[in-house]
Amino acid sequence: MYSKVDARIVELLAEIVGPEAVVTSEEGLEPYSHDEMPGWRYMPEVVVKPRSTEEVARVVQLAAEENVPVTPRGLGTGLSGGALPVHGGIVVSMERMNRLIEVDEDNLMAVVEPGLVVGELHKQVEARGLFYPPDPASLDSCSIGGNIAENAGGPRAVKYGITRDYVMGIEAVLPDGSVIRYGGKTVKNVTGYDLANVLIGSEGTLGIITQAILKLIPLPQHRIDLLVPFHSFRDATRTVTEIIRAKRIVPVVLEFMDRESVKACEKYLEKELPFSDAEAQLIVGLDGNRREDIDAQVEVVAEICLEGGADDVLVADSAFQKDQLWHARRVLLETLKAISERVEVEDVVVPRVRIPELISAVEEISERSGFPIVNWGHAGDGNVHVGVLKRGVSDEKWNAELDRVNEAIFESALSLGGMITGEHGIGIFKKRFMPKAVDEPTMAAMRALKRAFDPAGILNPGKVLP
Ligand SMILES: Cc1cc2nc3c(=O)[nH]c(=O)nc-3n(C[C@H](O)[C@H](O)[C@H](O)COP(=O)(O)OP(=O)(O)OC[C@H]3O[C@@H](n4cnc5c(N)ncnc54)[C@H](O)[C@@H]3O)c2cc1C
Repeated sequence: MYSKVDARIVELLAEIVGPEAVVTSEEGLEPYSHDEMPGWRYMPEVVVKPRSTEEVARVVQLAAEENVPVTPRGLGTGLSGGALPVHGGIVVSMERMNRLIEVDEDNLMAVVEPGLVVGELHKQVEARGLFYPPDPASLDSCSIGGNIAENAGGPRAVKYGITRDYVMGIEAVLPDGSVIRYGGKTVKNVTGYDLANVLIGSEGTLGIITQAILKLIPLPQHRIDLLVPFHSFRDATRTVTEIIRAKRIVPVVLEFMDRESVKACEKYLEKELPFSDAEAQLIVGLDGNRREDIDAQVEVVAEICLEGGADDVLVADSAFQKDQLWHARRVLLETLKAISERVEVEDVVVPRVRIPELISAVEEISERSGFPIVNWGHAGDGNVHVGVLKRGVSDEKWNAELDRVNEAIFESALSLGGMITGEHGIGIFKKRFMPKAVDEPTMAAMRALKRAFDPAGILNPGKVLP
């Protein structure tokens, strides 16, 4: 269906981006054949690394003329295979378009190129007393473009929202090579269809984002984190709701880990972690500008936790203490990969009051199937990461039954009023489950949108829509 990339096309690409920015060797292409989800590989035929919007547009134009598929790539930390070139062709890596173009302190906006590392943006704006809240756990290795394409969230979403809430303007190259711009440094804008919001979360299937204008807010002056162990998972998640319901306190983070996750980290790190016998741990973060206000909130939250069945409350306010407290949560994915040759991370999302029911359903699925499963994630916004491990499961059983296990997890989330992915996206892995989550008229509208943007189907084919 698509044409192959031949020597002539490689030469034309080199004329556009420069020969040093074209990769064709096997070992050079290999790192672009996978993302962070273990076990999936698709080799590109060629990788190009443009430096400007014009270069991206010319590459896409050429691909359209030659009927070669194009897959945009940020920094390859995705967990749904979105950046994998399923049909070969050209991978357009945005890694060299990584400038922070401007921090506009008067309008509280930053203008960025898509390859900018998210953690780098944090550092740059925080040095000026400003704040860009979206903070995926991968922030030191993922790009703004990848975050926009996936509409990434992070622990701070419970109070500050997700990537979508901060994107005020977008420049993008469409699949025919034309360049569109929507939005700008204005807080308000209802000029025509909101194309920025169409592109956000579109997983690189509608356009390649080449620049973005992001909203900044003032940096909160203080933050205190609490580590709270519970002997009952139900008590832990009920307490999450109680903190928000009873006192109208919205913590900046409300994360949880189950005992199996903490135990796995303990083994991997070869050190004892606090409260590792507890059935569940909550990490509660509180921030604000006046220390007295946060101290008062800490007292209220600690009281609610203890009344709700917590065994203890560990308070961390220095950088060192916070680092200790977050250690397990931060190394968790690495840990799971170290202890199990395959890990499927699902990131289902449910209304937060229904987390206990979801966890019970997942435990039952684990028992029934014999697949070890660990749970952790964003308790504050109902986004539960479910890690299905291959550890101890035979190849045969894994290959034969994994789909059924995943399906059962998705069905549980959907039956509780949830969705099959909260932040990692559909990509390759979840697209076969889309019909379960989205009804046919809605799917038809999504297909029509894709056709309107990309009638030839050359941009990131094989993703999102079954
Ligand atoms: C340890 C770990 C922790 C993580 N924690 C979180 C978390 O807390 N929250 C969360 O949301 N995610 C998390 N992720 C997933 C991942 O980091 C995010 O999905 C991130 O947004 C991907 O960014 P990237 O630059 O690596 O993009 P890639 O993986 O390169 O690409 C992801 C998708 O975006 C598209 N894309 C990339 N750049 C562009 C562009 N410029 N224009 C158009 N499309 C583009 C690609 O085609 C692909 O579909 C985590 C991953 C890891 C490994």
